[in-house]
Amino acid sequence: MIQSYDDTIYALASGKGRAGVAVVRLSGQLTLSVIQALTTKNRSEEKPQPTVDSKQFVPREARLTKIFHPKTNILIDMGLVLWFPAPHSFTGEDVAELHLHGSPAILTAIFEALESIEGVRMAERGEFTRRAFEQGKMDLTEAEGLNDLIFAETEGQRLQALKQMQGGLSTLYEGWREKLVHILAHLEADIDFPDEDLPEGVAAQKRPEIEKMQAEMKNHLADGHKGERIRSGFTVVLLGPPNVGKSSLLNALAKEDVAIVSDIAGTTRDTIEVKLDIGGFPVSFIDTAGLREAKDKIEEEGIRRARQKAENADLRLVMADALLWPDGEAEARGLVRSGDILCLNKIDESIQGLKNNISCQDNSEHIISAKTGEGLAELISSIENIVVDKLAISELPSLTRARHRTALEHCCASLERFIFSDHGDAVLEAEDVRLAARHLGFITGRVDVEEILDKVFNDFCIGK
Ligand code: GDP
Repeated sequence: MIQSYDDTIYALASGKGRAGVAVVRLSGQLTLSVIQALTTKNRSEEKPQPTVDSKQFVPREARLTKIFHPKTNILIDMGLVLWFPAPHSFTGEDVAELHLHGSPAILTAIFEALESIEGVRMAERGEFTRRAFEQGKMDLTEAEGLNDLIFAETEGQRLQALKQMQGGLSTLYEGWREKLVHILAHLEADIDFPDEDLPEGVAAQKRPEIEKMQAEMKNHLADGHKGERIRSGFTVVLLGPPNVGKSSLLNALAKEDVAIVSDIAGTTRDTIEVKLDIGGFPVSFIDTAGLREAKDKIEEEGIRRARQKAENADLRLVMADALLWPDGEAEARGLVRSGDILCLNKIDESIQGLKNNISCQDNSEHIISAKTGEGLAELISSIENIVVDKLAISELPSLTRARHRTALEHCCASLERFIFSDHGDAVLEAEDVRLAARHLGFITGRVDVEEILDKVFNDFCIGK
């Protein structure tokens, strides 16, 4: 819960740690008086007032100045001060940025100086963006897009987040919501003043339009969870009997020793995950316990987890020993399903004749050596093709959170009730459309629900 919007807030807007420059951002009604207090030596002790002469600062123009502690007058640093008067600022309130030298000592001193001013406090998580939302600067999906952009690690994540931050999802959802509100207005008018020319009522007339909209929503929902995957990662599970080289392959892909490699079967007990950038998308490779008859309780649990990860994976990479393939690898053969990639490892040890015996049908079969790296480039390329094919960013924006999906599913369910209702009760029909519009409003934040706002902005970092 946000403490009070009357407070002027501050936070470090740039990254933590030593840096050439650190940016401290302020927002709220005391902003101008605070930056004046910080840049004027020997000022009086009284509380800063919201109305102070602003001549000293030209909007959006950087001013190089000394920064003093407003109570002790000690010089803190020399830096740039930028002032963004409301409403032309990130939050829509008066905002200022202090560009200081990025040392821990300067930050401690400036925070202490800001804390000493009455009515000024450190921002809570996501409070700057929440204020921007409250001031109508952005809706919830745009705010979430902004947060995703800050956390983007791959090109695909950056593009998706940027699109959402620029209103891709808002335009889509608000477009649907406005159409529903428009239909609702007609339905309500018909309840109060029935149209003699439409004996079946407005609902029957509006049904095709609603059906079309619901089909668009269902299409938007049936995207294979693309947007959510771009955010959180596409998962590839390495699966197979013990000792076939799963951990060795994970290490080779990660280019570091993340998993223990050993010729003792059953070394990997828990799942080990490595996130890599493949074709601009985040891909999590998960090494799992070798599948065999468990020798103890811990291995049994490891195998259970391996099977569970395999069930939820976006792609399964079944591994087997090329030297034993196919007759000696019955367990691995039994695992391969359509859509899996089969990986025959240890090709470096195979005698030439055996190597020739293994025929790779297509990109779903690979012969590799995790030890020498042979065949790895081709394997990564096959994985990349699958990932890019499933996650390619389309023209239309994808929903990116379970929260969007749930609300949209509820919206579709309400429209479904409207479409198939045969009770002829105009009041109930209008209620279904109202509910559908409300669910869309939950996504964009058009419907004021404090609980949703707290959840969304808690995902942010302080300073955003
Ligand atoms: P896992 O149990 O499936 O995870 O297999 P590991 O990665 O722990 O490897 C089991 C054994 O096979 C170790 O002794 C590895 O050094 C060896 N190994 C793994 N990959 C290769 C490979 O490509 N070639 C050869 N010759 N040995 C390998």
